Amino acid sequence: MPELPEVETTRRGIAPYLIGRRIIGVTVRNPRLRWPIAPDLASTLCGQRIHAVTRRAKYLLLAADTGQLLLHLGMSGSLRISTPAQAYKKHDHVQWHLEDDIAMRLHDPRRFGCVLWLSGEHSATHPLLAGLGPEPLEDVFDAAYLYHYTRSRIIPIKVLIMQARCVVGVGNIYASESLFMAGIRPGTAAARLSKARCARLVTAIKTVLQAAIAQGGTTLRDFVREDGQHGYFRQQLQVYQRDGQPCHHCHSLIKKAVHGQRASYYCPACQA
Ligand SMILES: [Zn+2]
Repeated sequence: MPELPEVETTRRGIAPYLIGRRIIGVTVRNPRLRWPIAPDLASTLCGQRIHAVTRRAKYLLLAADTGQLLLHLGMSGSLRISTPAQAYKKHDHVQWHLEDDIAMRLHDPRRFGCVLWLSGEHSATHPLLAGLGPEPLEDVFDAAYLYHYTRSRIIPIKVLIMQARCVVGVGNIYASESLFMAGIRPGTAAARLSKARCARLVTAIKTVLQAAIAQGGTTLRDFVREDGQHGYFRQQLQVYQRDGQPCHHCHSLIKKAVHGQRASYYCPACQA
């Protein structure tokens, strides 16, 4: 599943091709994504210019003349820049044809992604975006925020940091890796974290996500970078899916547990 670093990498990859260009045509080859693509998407978008490409959580927002196009890559989606003449691949569901012979295609084998037009709306008030917590890489997500947020919450800290109301974009891989970096066991009750440990966790989340963005996103088998190459950086993961293998730091065997129906991985010696 594309996580925040993959989506941010995608944003940075597509933005230079889209910004300032007019949409000439939209081809919907299969409208059946998570929600059906509106039948009038092409007529709405044609002739509009794209002014900005931003990201909120794992949503991409393409600001056009009269509204915003909201894209989500779902479980297996990717966006690729090509030319309109290039042959379609299986699972290329939507093509946006832009000026200067540029095409952007949405490829999504499992079709959990979405393409929604927000007409004139301020995107922050859209139901999909309205309840979201802070962006992990922005300054508002800091130790004071996390300490305050965790006080009354006794659920495992790993479950909490994966909830979008607390902070957006911390998926299972990055939650496990951040908790390892911070030396905190994933099952620790959130409310029991000291302010110093909250500060370490915030720093770890930012560090892990920034490192993944710098590498062009981590590793997921369905993820394809905007240049069409698979990103594979799994060897750099410290704990995720390494249960039974020795910790890179202390050689204890990495353990696996389940929190909130999701697998967690941790080192019993490095994390307390
Ligand atoms: Zn260890």
